[in-house]
Amino acid sequence: MQDTVALALHGGAGARPDLDYSEEVAHMRRLVEAGRDRLLLGVAALDVAVETVEALEASGLYVAGRGSSPNQSGAYELDACVMDGATGRVGAVAALQGFKSPIHAAVAVMEQTPHVLLAGAGAAAFAHRQGLEPIADPATWFTNARRSSVSNGGLSHGTVGCVVRDRNGRLAAATSTGGLFGKLPGRVGDSPVPGAGAWADGSVAVSCTGQGEYFLRTAAAAQVAFRMRFGGQPLEAATRAVLDEIKALGGDGGLIAVDGAGRVSMPFVSPGMKRAALYTDGRIVSEVFASGQP
Ligand code: ASP
Repeated sequence: MQDTVALALHGGAGARPDLDYSEEVAHMRRLVEAGRDRLLLGVAALDVAVETVEALEASGLYVAGRGSSPNQSGAYELDACVMDGATGRVGAVAALQGFKSPIHAAVAVMEQTPHVLLAGAGAAAFAHRQGLEPIADPATWFTNARRSSVSNGGLSHGTVGCVVRDRNGRLAAATSTGGLFGKLPGRVGDSPVPGAGAWADGSVAVSCTGQGEYFLRTAAAAQVAFRMRFGGQPLEAATRAVLDEIKALGGDGGLIAVDGAGRVSMPFVSPGMKRAALYTDGRIVSEVFASGQP
């Protein structure tokens, strides 16, 4: 068990059956393989989760980082959160404008400030002081990967995330998003909120994707952990129960989770979820629609 490694990532809930996602499927598989290699070298769960989300952000294939979509004013306000289950440390940014990697800004908040979450102009000023890489020209930088998104009640969305169990049993989660397409300026969803869009503790790491308001209303990511910790539920029962609650409220989406034993759960209640995982037996899956995989 000591050497067991596991990793799951997602590129957002929702997919259209008429579109070809072979580029995303191949890309996600490559990222899982890269993460596996890093984990086998002994790299910490936190670092692998951040590296993976950074690569997802930079690809421009998903509605996060470079692939993000603008809000109603045409501005790109991005959200991200990282949480280290081994230490309980967490950092996040909300409605951040002007920087290439929101997940890097979240890491800087965690490591360089006494705070958990910086938002808006304050977050941007902090990212600038940290020397994080700015976006020179938003008009040419963003790819608007909105074709990857899906609509629920007129709200299209997308997100990326990663959860990891490293060789020492440490767990970590990271989530990054461009949020809802055409959102109101200042709207913040679940993704940068610890306990809603991301959570990691000693037993489980979770990253969510879907219409964020429902994941905020249900404290989705922490609810998975608390169902396990206080309710004694196994991973799969906990993740499915949370998504059932979201579906009953009228929401959609999915999540990825890994527990202390390296078990992976990737349920969704949306038409698809771009996702990939490394299981403890070394098997890798990368897919978008339902497959019958565990
Ligand atoms: N949860 C994200 C948000 O509401 C969007 C998504 O995951 O698709 O901002």
